[in-house]
Amino acid sequence: MEYVVGIDLGTTNTCVAIVENGEPTVIANKGGYRTTPSVVATSEGGRRMVGHLAKRQLVTNPNHTVYAAKRLIGRKWSSPATDAARALVPYTLVEGPNGDVRLEVQGDVFSTAEIAAFILQEMRLIAEAHVGAPIDRAVVTVPAYFNDNQRQATKDAGRIAGLEVIRIINEPTAAALAFGFGKNLERKVAVYDFGGGTFDISILDIGDGLFEVVATSGDSFLGGEDLDQRLVEYLVETVEEGQDIDLRGDRMAMQRIRDAAERARCELSEQTEVTIDLPFLHTTATGEVHHLRGETVTRSQIEDLTADLIERTIAISEQALVDAGLDKSSIDDVVLVGGMTRMPLIRRRVAEFFGREPCLGVNPDELVALGAAIQAASLSHETEEVLLLDVTPHSLGIMIAGGYLHRLIEKNTTVPTKAGHVFTTTRDDQTSVKILVLQGEHDQAVDNELLGEFILSGLRKAPRGQVQVDVSFAISVDGIVSVSAKDLETGHEQTIAVTATSGLADDELERLIRESNAYMVEARASEELARRRRQVERLMGDVDGLVPRVREVMNGTRFGREALAKVEGVLHRGERELHVGDPRSLSEAMESLERAQSMLRGIAERSGR
Ligand code: AMP
Repeated sequence: MEYVVGIDLGTTNTCVAIVENGEPTVIANKGGYRTTPSVVATSEGGRRMVGHLAKRQLVTNPNHTVYAAKRLIGRKWSSPATDAARALVPYTLVEGPNGDVRLEVQGDVFSTAEIAAFILQEMRLIAEAHVGAPIDRAVVTVPAYFNDNQRQATKDAGRIAGLEVIRIINEPTAAALAFGFGKNLERKVAVYDFGGGTFDISILDIGDGLFEVVATSGDSFLGGEDLDQRLVEYLVETVEEGQDIDLRGDRMAMQRIRDAAERARCELSEQTEVTIDLPFLHTTATGEVHHLRGETVTRSQIEDLTADLIERTIAISEQALVDAGLDKSSIDDVVLVGGMTRMPLIRRRVAEFFGREPCLGVNPDELVALGAAIQAASLSHETEEVLLLDVTPHSLGIMIAGGYLHRLIEKNTTVPTKAGHVFTTTRDDQTSVKILVLQGEHDQAVDNELLGEFILSGLRKAPRGQVQVDVSFAISVDGIVSVSAKDLETGHEQTIAVTATSGLADDELERLIRESNAYMVEARASEELARRRRQVERLMGDVDGLVPRVREVMNGTRFGREALAKVEGVLHRGERELHVGDPRSLSEAMESLERAQSMLRGIAERSGR
């Protein structure tokens, strides 16, 4: 059987799920956790760490640990979001060869797609350990408000991780799918999805087994990290005022403050007051030691510090309703997704805004992955087909004379969709036309996201206005843009890749895929070794436990003595193989242990013990 998983690749945490016996289920990682931190680090020895292991050493190793990389995926070096991220993260950002953003860790430079691939690969290993078979295909979710560059980069991340991403779906849509799964709903649902790095709102019309998104909106640079930053600033200023020291240049101190700020913010969801203690926070060149001691932060303080950010999500929700042409009162259910929705102020404001309490019994950390798994099962025909109609979050257009955006596909159009535009030459003997493809809502072309520019060349020389080229723009069901052009006179057609995707050139992508395959072979082998070790260890425990019973009844007999001596030998061998064994010798040890186990059991049973 071929397994296809659903992966919610989050800014802060990542979650993998699968449909088993018709039921969507979250797969826990080796540590038993149902979500894995989206954190990647490199040890001094160059070993890759992903998840809890990487997060645990974040405070002591901030320069070599990457978190929240999703905020940068598919971004250009020149984008304002890159500047904003630079101020937030302790690791170093550098410009990539294609104007993309890269991350420097331990002297190695990684693309954002590569970092995302490391996380996807970890999820693949987690899922493989669960099903006991290779996983090669997945449905991966992205924030609904992700633009084409960000979606392309996510798809590249899947390719690097050795996964065929059979569909990219929007996080709130996935959440709605899981929410409505098997319930035969006829309702209008608002999914408010606030995570560590992004905010999305989608309005869906669910009925007759069809999940139709009517409008979506969001901000792909608004999340828990921004709220944390407010508290970090507050704490840094407190130290500055009280102790006359600026901690902003001390990376480790800043990381400890950030860590404490997030923890405090989460605790304030349950408590009304917390105390932050950070001893030995900073030592000056002259040896003067600074601490942050007994700093009390109250729930109302954190609410005051972050209220405007939460109001931004409400304004965006209002816009989504306007785009959907719906009144708040026509929304039947409000579903909260993303860790941030545990914050009492958010729950309160959302309830006030929609005039109803959000649905209970929904796990905000798992719903998106479950929805992705449902879609994965449906696409691989394991369950009934799920009918899903999603929309494009941004308008798509081209730059026209005067530097304006000419919209060809409006935001909130159902995907897949297509639009055409006929270009004519504007100069005599013009043999090429340059087309700039943009995504966004601003009238001035420069204010929108440039997806790519391409040149249609080889046009026939003719007086201006005579040559016509029909360019068609398409947005796939994954929300990914493609462009093709046709010379209307000759019928000659060409398809153009809109963008350099994640900033990775083809040969670089191929190299990364090769490296990742090699990593996967190694990781699988070491997982297999660990699995066999666990089996040997468990069997040794069982056999060890049977020995005293058998000794009691058989020790006096020659047969008993010989049997026990043999068992002793088998246990010794097991012990040795645990330390030095390869998969084959561990398997052999396992077989001997199984034989010993059944012999001892037989003796014990026959003697009635
Ligand atoms: P997600 O991206 O959905 O995994 O959400 C992660 C974000 O949710 C992080 O910014 C966390 O700090 C935040 N978060 C998780 N639990 C809580 C909580 N109990 N109260 C407030 N925020 C939380």
